[in-house]
Amino acid sequence: TLPATKDDDEDLEDVDGFFADLPPVLRGEPQDIVQHLIRERQKASDGDVDAEKAFFVADLGSVWLQHMKWTRCLPRVQPFYAIKCNPDPYVLRLLASLGAGFDCASYGEISRVLSIGVEPSRIIFANPCKPVSFIRNASQLGVDMMTFDNVDELHKIARIHPTAQLVLRILTDDSKSVCRLGLKFGATLASVPLLLSTAKSLHLNVIGISFHVGSGCYDPHAFMDAIERAHVAFNIGRDIGYRFNFLDIGGGFETKNFEETAAVVERALNEYFPVEEGVRVISEPGRFYVAGAFSLAANIIARRPVMAKPSTNGNADEDEPSIMYYINDGVYGSFNCILFDHQVVHPYALTIDHEFQQYENHAVALCSVWGPTCDSIDCVNSRVVLPSGLKIGDWIGFGDMGAYTICAASQFNGFQESAVHYCSGTGERSRAVRKALKEYPLSK
Ligand code: PLP
Repeated sequence: TLPATKDDDEDLEDVDGFFADLPPVLRGEPQDIVQHLIRERQKASDGDVDAEKAFFVADLGSVWLQHMKWTRCLPRVQPFYAIKCNPDPYVLRLLASLGAGFDCASYGEISRVLSIGVEPSRIIFANPCKPVSFIRNASQLGVDMMTFDNVDELHKIARIHPTAQLVLRILTDDSKSVCRLGLKFGATLASVPLLLSTAKSLHLNVIGISFHVGSGCYDPHAFMDAIERAHVAFNIGRDIGYRFNFLDIGGGFETKNFEETAAVVERALNEYFPVEEGVRVISEPGRFYVAGAFSLAANIIARRPVMAKPSTNGNADEDEPSIMYYINDGVYGSFNCILFDHQVVHPYALTIDHEFQQYENHAVALCSVWGPTCDSIDCVNSRVVLPSGLKIGDWIGFGDMGAYTICAASQFNGFQESAVHYCSGTGERSRAVRKALKEYPLSK
C-alpha cells in the first residue's frame, strides 16, 4: 500500500483510475511513488522480468501546476499543447479538460486528439509541409486551421481543402534556441508578399501569422523580435487585402525562465497587438507542460570496472571514469532525447546496496552510465559522480524526462519501451487533477 498522506482524507476508491483502458492514477508525491514501486519490485523473485524494467512516474499534478502558471502569466494566450512532445493519454485528457487546444503535426496526432472527444476547432494542424492525404483527412474531419510557408502548399490546400483557415508561418531568429526549427520551416518576411498575394489569387482564407522561436528558447527577447516581425507580416496582409485576427506564438517555452519570457511576451503583445484590436492569440507549448512532470527509474543490470589507463606521466588517470554501469533504458529508448533533443541527463542513486539511503554516507566514484543495447553510441552519461557501492539491481533516477523522450523511443535490440505509472501529487494538486479527469466529458 502507498504511504498515507496527511491532507488526503478523501476516500481512496478512485485511486483505481478513471478510464478503464488506462493505468490507475496513484495519489501521492512522485518521489514516494517511485520508492513504493521499487519496493514492490524488490519483493519480486530474482530475475522477474517485470520487476527489472525501467519505469516512468508521471506527476499529473505537475502538469496541472504548469497550466495554472501559464494561465496566470499569459492570460491572453490560449495554449494549444504540442502533442508531438509527449502524446501521453492522461496528459491529453487532463489538458483537454482544462481547456487547452492541441497542435498536431500529422493525421495520426489529429486522430489521437479527436478520439478523446476534443472538437476539431480546438486543433491546429501546425505542419507547414503536409502530405496531400493528410490535408484531405483534415478536411474530412473538420480540422480547418493549418499552417503553410510555401507556394506549393497553398496550391495543395486550394485543391483539397479550399475552406481551410490558413496561418502563415514566418521565420524568426532561433539562434538562441537548443533546437533550431528555422533551418527547416518559416517564410522570410521578404517572401510574405508573394505568398499572401498567391493565397489571395487562390481565394484562400488566411487568418493570421505563426512562428516558432525554436525549441528550448533561453532568450526571452527572441519572442519580442518574433512578435514584431509578425506585426510587420500583419501589415503586409492588410496591404494585400486580408484582415488578420489570429496570432500563433508557437512553442519554445522553458520552465526555468518562463516568468521572464511571459513578461516579455505580454509586453510585446501589448505593444504590437493591443487587446482592443481583438486579435486571438494562441501558442504551441510542448516541453513547458511535461518536461518536469516525468521522471525515470532505471535498474542497474550490469557493471564493469574500467581498467585504469596510465596517463602521459605514467600514473593511473584519476580523471577517467573508473566504473561502467549498464542500465535497462538507453539512447535507443527513452534517452533518445540525448541524440535528438540535445539533452544532458543527470542520474542520481535511488538505492545504494538495495536500500534507500543518503548519499553523504557513501564513497563516490567517477562513473559512466550505458544503455542496454549492443551499440557503443548507447551512452547515457559518460562522466558522472555516483556512489561507488552501487550494485546489480540498484536503481538510479533521472528527472526532467517528460519532453521528447517516450514519443521517439524505439525497440532496437528487442528492448521494450519503459512503461509509465501515474500519480496526482497530494492536496490541492491531487484534488484538481482528479476533478478535471472525472469531469472530462468523454471519460465514460
Ligand atoms: N510547434 C511546432 C510546430 C513544433 O515543431 C514544436 C516542436 O518541435 C512545438 C510546437 C513544441 O515546441 P516546444 O516543445 O519547444 O514548446
